[in-house]
Amino acid sequence: MTNEEKIAELRSIVAESDNIVFFGGAGVSTESGVPDFRSQDGLYHQQYRYPPETILSHTFYEKMPEEFFRFYHDKILAPGQNAKPNKAHLKLAQWTKEGKLRAIITQNIDGLHQAAARQVGAREDNIYELHGSTLRNYCEDCGASCDVDYIFAHSAAGEVPRCARCGGRVKPDVVLYEEGLNTDTLNGAIRAISAADVLIIGGTSLVVYPAAGLIDYYRGKHLILINKSATSRDAEADLCIAESIGTVLDACD
Ligand SMILES: [Zn+2]
Repeated sequence: MTNEEKIAELRSIVAESDNIVFFGGAGVSTESGVPDFRSQDGLYHQQYRYPPETILSHTFYEKMPEEFFRFYHDKILAPGQNAKPNKAHLKLAQWTKEGKLRAIITQNIDGLHQAAARQVGAREDNIYELHGSTLRNYCEDCGASCDVDYIFAHSAAGEVPRCARCGGRVKPDVVLYEEGLNTDTLNGAIRAISAADVLIIGGTSLVVYPAAGLIDYYRGKHLILINKSATSRDAEADLCIAESIGTVLDACD
């Protein structure tokens, strides 16, 4: 089958279903210009004093917060600062609005699915951010929330962001290495996948925890993988489309 034929097949599957779940990885955001942590050109291959996996760990955050926030600013916040939702985010939001898409489960932390939802007027409560969001930040002492612009400004100035109310350290609501996923988010994602008729997985090679494990909950009719390169689960899929996720979803009308 050519990609065009596969997209035609996907289009008819989507047209017939009102119980679709989307699971997305870094590839969904790279099309908005947000670099992929784990890709060849991503920040894991860039020079830094410590490996990114070390800096982005809970232990490192506790021990060396200045260095953590310097890295966090330079490699996480700054590259995504002007990112806008792309065709994939917008099409998914549109399907939510039409009642076709039950859940969006993402490993990305940039808030672009919510931005797309606001752009098209779709609800946001069906978005499950497994690894949290850079847009939410809370004081470790009093729990006050703090917007990302404040974190950006202080970390850009080489400071650890402090709560304006009590002076406590402000932590991004992002799941660091060594930290567990939020239980409610994970359970919501599992419930949605377990109940889905159609599962579309895009922009992930399915090697990063917990992606592969979550997919094992799927019992539906059509498993669709959209990724530029092969994934570890291609053999199980009903349809594998080796193409950009934005291009494929945009063609699905
Ligand atoms: Zn505080």
